[in-house]
Amino acid sequence: MMDDRLFRSTMGKFATGVTVITTEVDGKAHGMTANAFMSVSLNPKLVLISIGEKARMLDRIHQSGTFAVNILSAEQKEVSMLFAGQIKEEKKVEFEYIQGVPTVKGALANVVCKVHSSQVAGDHTLFIGEVQDIVLQDGTPLTFFEGKYGRLAEEQLI
Ligand code: FAD
Repeated sequence: MMDDRLFRSTMGKFATGVTVITTEVDGKAHGMTANAFMSVSLNPKLVLISIGEKARMLDRIHQSGTFAVNILSAEQKEVSMLFAGQIKEEKKVEFEYIQGVPTVKGALANVVCKVHSSQVAGDHTLFIGEVQDIVLQDGTPLTFFEGKYGRLAEEQLI
């Protein structure tokens, strides 16, 4: 059997941005950091996220049927750490509501989705979201590579 560490470090070679997935159930907003995000289709406009079976977010998206993908800026490392449970103290976070869905303020993009379909895949569930609304802002992205946060060095853009 293949070693878990080999698989994890191999997947960590794929440099990504960082998002926070947000949703609301019974008037309570919930956020979770995720980098398993991709664009799927232009017509209709679909995106995909992957949520672990142990994440509280899983049931919440099943219940609400909606979620937002908030693409974080380089200034939002702490936001990512907060919603990944890497900062322990409780923090009050203010969300901005778009079409009734909580979104993260100051993100490069808020992509508001309605669940189109879901598919269990091993220990994760893939949610395909149909995009309902988008809010965009200028800025540079927070990045994630080999398990570490980073930012783009502008002069190294090729
Ligand atoms: P919880 O553990 O309940 O919440 C996560 C944290 O967010 C907690 O500390 C909580 O206090 C805080 N929080 C939530 N809502 C609020 C609120 N309204 N106000 C204030 N604080 C709040 N996991 C995946 O399943 N898929 C991925 O693609 C993925 N990618 C990741 C990428 C990165 C870079 C990192 C660091 C982690 C990633 N994870 C991913 C792991 C995931 O973020 C954590 O396992 C997370 O803790 C699971 O969230 P949960 O839904 O169980 O929520």
